[in-house]
Amino acid sequence: MPELPEVQAHAERLTEQFGGAQLQKFVPFNFTALKTAVPPPSDAYGAPLQTVGRRGKYLLLQFESVTFIVHLMQGGRLLVDEKQSAKPRNGQARFLFVDQPALLLTEAGTERRAGVWCVPSVAGGIPEGPPLDRLGPEAMEISAEQLAAAFEAHNMRVHGFLRDQHMIAGLGRMLANEVCHRAKVSPFAMTRKLGAVGAKTILEAIHDAVDEGLTYERTRDSMSSSADRPGRVHNRVGEPCPVCADTIRSVSYSGYTVAYCPTCQTDGKVLADNTTSRFLK
Ligand SMILES: [Zn+2]
Repeated sequence: MPELPEVQAHAERLTEQFGGAQLQKFVPFNFTALKTAVPPPSDAYGAPLQTVGRRGKYLLLQFESVTFIVHLMQGGRLLVDEKQSAKPRNGQARFLFVDQPALLLTEAGTERRAGVWCVPSVAGGIPEGPPLDRLGPEAMEISAEQLAAAFEAHNMRVHGFLRDQHMIAGLGRMLANEVCHRAKVSPFAMTRKLGAVGAKTILEAIHDAVDEGLTYERTRDSMSSSADRPGRVHNRVGEPCPVCADTIRSVSYSGYTVAYCPTCQTDGKVLADNTTSRFLK
């Protein structure tokens, strides 16, 4: 899934390529693509695209009166569409512009969870209401004090906290892995136990990991897939840790895989795999 660096760099690219372009039409290809009824997308027809912004993992296509909020979910992409074929592969919706290529929202697979919300614009700000109203603070804007307070208020595994968009917005599985590794914290450490010192360490690791991701992503002309992204533990299971040369390990937890370095993060302890250890009992 695209995370903060991928979505942010994509927003910047789209602003550069489509800023000022006049919206001609918004065309959903199925009834799940547009998640809202009011205001209608036609409120933006003829208006120039002011900017493409980001909140959490959402792209915000801002026009004067309405903003289109796009969530790519797992396999979605918002692609420059020169061909505009009648039945685009995996096509969910299309933004048509006057004298410009279109933008095509695609989603691989059959889940159909990517989608578009059309909401009233807030001048110079982030639209209110769903789907953005339940997001926690931005990962790169939260302060160490705020993070420490959230750790205290919500005692949970830190890896789960980092991925929870209600707690902190913009990080996903990959960055949660990378942040825990950089902070030398077990992915299963409890947030309350990490305390104020732990929150500061985690916040520094968030900035490091996001900055590295952004630097890479800004060199590209399209959004990366997770296998392309620079990482120290994510997609590196079985390889040596770049810090200590121990072998990067993985543990399956509630349906997803957490990657970590035992020496750097768990005092050398190999974490029990919930899914397999159940069978060994
Ligand atoms: Zn290590």
